[in-house]
Amino acid sequence: MKDHEQRLIDRGIRVTAVRLLVFQAMLTHPSAFSLADLEEKLDSVDKSTLSRAIRLFHEKLLIHSIDDGSGSIKYSVCDSACSCRLDDLHVHFYCTRCKHTRCLEQIAIPSVSLPPGFALESVNFVLKGLCDKCSKSRKC
Ligand SMILES: [Zn+2]
Ligand SMILES: [Zn+2]
Repeated sequence: MKDHEQRLIDRGIRVTAVRLLVFQAMLTHPSAFSLADLEEKLDSVDKSTLSRAIRLFHEKLLIHSIDDGSGSIKYSVCDSACSCRLDDLHVHFYCTRCKHTRCLEQIAIPSVSLPPGFALESVNFVLKGLCDKCSKSRKC
């Protein structure tokens, strides 16, 4: 628990019992999570408290957001060393079978050269298909 507290402090987030609880739930979630996923997991936490915590964590770069095209924004906890700059960004993978979105931290976003006058601010790179677990269990 101490480590978790430190990670909040490192990001300039004041530690409260609820925030720790929310962060804990995020860390133990097996894939990227949406607000609804956390609501399900933390039914003791008030909805608006939960969405405020998510917003704060996102602002303070403790978590990053992913638009996987499923209709709800997903989030995932950032590495301690991550500063969410463009060169920290990685590819995400959305499994069409289990519907889980996972971070592929080892794969950096390919760099694109934009036409003159365009300035890149964020990238959302989502690959879709079957994840390692689902492709193994696939019956041919
Ligand atoms: Zn899957
Ligand atoms: Zn990610």
